[in-house]
Amino acid sequence: MNAVKIVRLMVCAMVVSVSCSAYAKDREMSTDVVVVGAGSAGLSAAVSAAYKGAKVILLEKMPFAGGSSNFAEGLFAVNTNQQRLKAIGLTKEQTVEKNFEYHHYRNNAVLAAQTITNSTGTIEWLEQQGVRFEVVTMSPTEAPTWHLIQDRGNAHHGAALVQALQAKATELGVKIMFETPAKELIFDGSKVVGVKAVNSKGDNYKISAKSVVLASGGFPNSKEMVKKWTRFDADKVFPTVPINKTGDGINMALSAGADHEGWGLMLHPGTHGPGIKPLGPLYAVTWQPTLWTNKYGERVVDENAVWSFTFGGNAIERQRDSFVWSIFDDATVRYLEEKGIDNGLGVLVPIGTKLKDLRAEIATASSQSNPSIVVADSVEELAQKMGADPDKLKSTVNQYNHAKEIGHDAVTYRKADTIIPVKTGKLYALKTFPYYFVSLGGVKTSLNFEVIDKNDRPISGLYAAGADIGGLYGDTYSTWHSGMLFQFSCQSGKAAGEMAAANSKK
Ligand SMILES: Cc1cc2nc3c(=O)[nH]c(=O)nc-3n(C[C@H](O)[C@H](O)[C@H](O)COP(=O)(O)OP(=O)(O)OC[C@H]3O[C@@H](n4cnc5c(N)ncnc54)[C@H](O)[C@@H]3O)c2cc1C
Repeated sequence: MNAVKIVRLMVCAMVVSVSCSAYAKDREMSTDVVVVGAGSAGLSAAVSAAYKGAKVILLEKMPFAGGSSNFAEGLFAVNTNQQRLKAIGLTKEQTVEKNFEYHHYRNNAVLAAQTITNSTGTIEWLEQQGVRFEVVTMSPTEAPTWHLIQDRGNAHHGAALVQALQAKATELGVKIMFETPAKELIFDGSKVVGVKAVNSKGDNYKISAKSVVLASGGFPNSKEMVKKWTRFDADKVFPTVPINKTGDGINMALSAGADHEGWGLMLHPGTHGPGIKPLGPLYAVTWQPTLWTNKYGERVVDENAVWSFTFGGNAIERQRDSFVWSIFDDATVRYLEEKGIDNGLGVLVPIGTKLKDLRAEIATASSQSNPSIVVADSVEELAQKMGADPDKLKSTVNQYNHAKEIGHDAVTYRKADTIIPVKTGKLYALKTFPYYFVSLGGVKTSLNFEVIDKNDRPISGLYAAGADIGGLYGDTYSTWHSGMLFQFSCQSGKAAGEMAAANSKK
């Protein structure tokens, strides 16, 4: 299934969900384990619980499995066979040390170390479920830890992993209920003993279970939760995909008294407006290290930050009104058309992709008066169209171009030979915004993925996995350890499923 098809199905699901029938029924079911959410975390949990002999019901809000995992491409891991065959000698110790430093010792260090240590086994377990990998790097600023998922029939990357796990779950007898979101937990005193769910016809389900695993993929599509829990202005950051993930699992855990930590967003650059396609040519330009200025026309950062998409996103978000102008000229347009992009958008828009439609998209967006793109014949005109001070922008562009000529950038200390000059032909300024792939942070768990309360005691019968869990990150996401969240989703899902199955046999 491709991304466009998934988004179409999503819109249909929303239409259906408001037309509940008047003949809704109340239904009761009973099982060993209920898993909430059929993304990579939930599917891993369902499969591992079923391997342990548990009866499993897997609830999915949407009409298809996979959530954000459908769009993701690769998993972090070290010491894998794929790395051995490419003579990659990165060790767990080096990776753990880098992780702690990267996250400023603000993350759950033991959870991070466990994730790194168990990454080797998780790749092997996924291979046993029919998933295939190749290790690749996306940018010169990251370690070779990204295990890119290989196609499975016509399913690509994350969708291929989802397809393999869904097939295994079905083979093992897991009952998957689509368009049936979990709504609330059922308690017996302080113990969790099941969930209530409602399907698209409006049928109410009361499902008794010995264990519940929450794997609803975080809260990227809940503006309210972004507002309430993160430091970001929810009106100035944009979710990459509209996938209806509204923090349901996290909110259910909080209702059970769960503790929480690590709230944030996995930022990256992007742009939008009439005539601009998501992941299209102008969107791809926002990931290139062209000149960046703030709304006033001043330089703000060594633009090479964008080689790490999170660093780029962070630098953009902290500017006044949370945007930068990406400024480039006709020579750059020609380079991007003929030689292609230097910084890939994962493998969705890989390095070297020739932006043949860039000029056409600029023309379309301009003809639709899209304020995100302005075109001019001089720096003064560009500044005027950007709403910046022409003298200031002129001085910025002169300093930037001069830095290349003299081999020294005294403003941001960007390596001068990497500077992409702005001086040939028409000039362009593209408003570049902070987008986010997924939310970070959520409920606290033990190392066995039992949800814990504010006294660090496990809440009986309740487990969590994947992007519903907080604590793996400090103040940002690491692209040096590329693919960490996807790895964590599969790994925590597998472990939570095993724990949930063991609990159901008590
Ligand atoms: C474009 C894109 C590219 C990405 N690339 C990468 C990458 O290469 N590497 C990486 O590490 N990470 C990447 N990510 C992040 C990645 O998607 C997450 O790491 C991972 O998919 C999280 O898995 P999950 O199972 O926790 O959540 P999801 O895969 O989103 O699954 C959650 C599921 O729960 C369902 N759900 C929600 N609420 C309910 C409810 N109430 N009841 C029942 N079901 C519910 C959702 O519909 C969804 O199917 C990317 C994200 C995007 C958007």
